[in-house]
Amino acid sequence: MPKPLRMCVRCQRITDDLVIVSEVHTNSGPGWNVYACWRCAPLVPSGPDPMEIIEAAERRRRARTDR
Ligand SMILES: [Zn+2]
Repeated sequence: MPKPLRMCVRCQRITDDLVIVSEVHTNSGPGWNVYACWRCAPLVPSGPDPMEIIEAAERRRRARTDR
């Protein structure tokens, strides 16, 4: 199995060297974690909701891995 790659929520680089900066919980379905690379992690505000960025990232990722 390939190593799960995550995207940094801030610089949007895809790397496996990420830390969890926030946990998102939704009412529908499982939540997910917001990751940032170690460089960005201190710069990512953990308060405000990164939903928009995450959704865009998810859409892009899904489109890419669709086939
Ligand atoms: Zn980053």
